[in-house]
Amino acid sequence: MQDVIIIGGGPAGSTAASFLAKHGHSVTILEKERFPREHVGESLLPFCYKTFDALGVLDEMKRLFVRKPTVRFATIDGKQSTNWCFNAVIPDESFLSFQVDRKVFDTMLLDNSRKLGVDVHEQTKVTDVKFDTEQDKVVVSATGPNGEKQTYEGRFLIDASGRSTFLASKNNWRTSNVGFERTAVWTHFIDVKNMIGGLEEGSSLIVYLGGNKRGWIWVFPLERDRITAGVVVDSFYLRDKKRELQEAGSENWQRDFFFNELNESPFVREIIDGAEMMMDVIVEGDYSYNSNVKHGPRYALIGDASRFIDPIFSSGIFLSTKSAWLVADALHEMLSSGDLNNNQPLLKAYEYINGAYNFVYRLITLFYNPHTISFAEAATFFNEYSDHQHAMAAGHFILSGDFFENHKKYHEFLDVLEAPRNFQRYKNVVMDRKKSNIESCNLKPEERSIIFPKKSLRMAEQLQKVTS
Ligand SMILES: Cc1cc2nc3c(=O)[nH]c(=O)nc-3n(C[C@H](O)[C@H](O)[C@H](O)COP(=O)(O)OP(=O)(O)OC[C@H]3O[C@@H](n4cnc5c(N)ncnc54)[C@H](O)[C@@H]3O)c2cc1C
Repeated sequence: MQDVIIIGGGPAGSTAASFLAKHGHSVTILEKERFPREHVGESLLPFCYKTFDALGVLDEMKRLFVRKPTVRFATIDGKQSTNWCFNAVIPDESFLSFQVDRKVFDTMLLDNSRKLGVDVHEQTKVTDVKFDTEQDKVVVSATGPNGEKQTYEGRFLIDASGRSTFLASKNNWRTSNVGFERTAVWTHFIDVKNMIGGLEEGSSLIVYLGGNKRGWIWVFPLERDRITAGVVVDSFYLRDKKRELQEAGSENWQRDFFFNELNESPFVREIIDGAEMMMDVIVEGDYSYNSNVKHGPRYALIGDASRFIDPIFSSGIFLSTKSAWLVADALHEMLSSGDLNNNQPLLKAYEYINGAYNFVYRLITLFYNPHTISFAEAATFFNEYSDHQHAMAAGHFILSGDFFENHKKYHEFLDVLEAPRNFQRYKNVVMDRKKSNIESCNLKPEERSIIFPKKSLRMAEQLQKVTS
């Protein structure tokens, strides 16, 4: 019998597995897909750095992926923008975060788990879970690569099944966040000739779409000449547009919708001009939900399997992997003590995890509230006041991912955004940075030279195929 069985080999599952294996526990991952597989969610927060370092994948990350020094929020006409350069508040090299191709990133993390001794089964779909209270074990049923029925036994189960929400769906724990019905349409472009507006420096670009769209556009660089671009809009708006396009005779309404929206921003139009789509557009619907139950006797939910929040702040991977680490450490304590019924370590871990998720949720609620200061207008707004640096510093820390241990103090910053006149009271964090309405983060030459990896990712993928 294994110590832990994990459903799902995405970033949450593989991270939890790797930390548990490092602690000396026996772990099995059951993953329904065969990796590499496509996945959305490609821009990472600087606070992920510590996790990658502890997992032992940092050097590989540096070799493979674009470095990200900032996120730049812009209005649709490009007239106002705020560049949240992470070097304003992070003094070491971790301010250069990462933009990742998820096919490569998720495979790298899963391979790392294997190297650490985790027993990984791909193309193995979990179909049922039974908690045997008499024998104190979890019995997991699955279907293997050739359709064969399989059974696995463990002392504890982690559900990291992502947006399939295996346990939450099975037990009716999942509730949707009303008012957050959004759909994303996205793809990759190659041969991008106009890497501008900060993309040439590795930046993430987020463009606000106001009105009834209630959404945004993302553009992130994945290589020197390759970007990921996506449009997120209110699902009801998308439904109306779909009908209009179909009535007008569109043969591929998803693609037509996608280009119509991107082309509304002159800035984005210029970036994709002359570039080629690498794959057809992918539509991801129905998101933002919460599982009312996060853990119980012999199980815990992590990553998107426990909660999904609108991805505007690129927080998903950080929330998922940091939660995975906290839960793995808590579980190690429980397994080592021999008393799985004493769940104090898990309760403590979920205090941080729930605090972080609740904080990001509030941040996103503010983002969609038209009466608050937007992250695109913050630089202009706060610069009119002598104390603007305090509030701007908090904004930088939040966008870097400082919301697990410190979420309580940043609630004050959100109070400021909600009631702008109060912002001068905010003096907890100090920074020395006057201008944020800028395109460049003024990187040093040695930083600029490592933004794009030497070897192209497409080549790295090819190499991987040849050698595996
Ligand atoms: C439009 C959009 C944009 C996003 N942008 C960003 C971003 O820029 N930055 C960021 O950090 N995050 C972003 N995210 C969020 C990010 O993608 C997720 O938070 C992250 O992938 C969560 O990781 P996970 O391991 O929990 O789930 P996943 O990565 O989804 O992994 C779950 C795994 O479980 C497997 N699985 C499911 N059911 C079963 C089963 N029954 N048996 C076996 N295996 C199973 C799946 O095949 C999958 O491989 C975005 C999300 C969306 C929708």
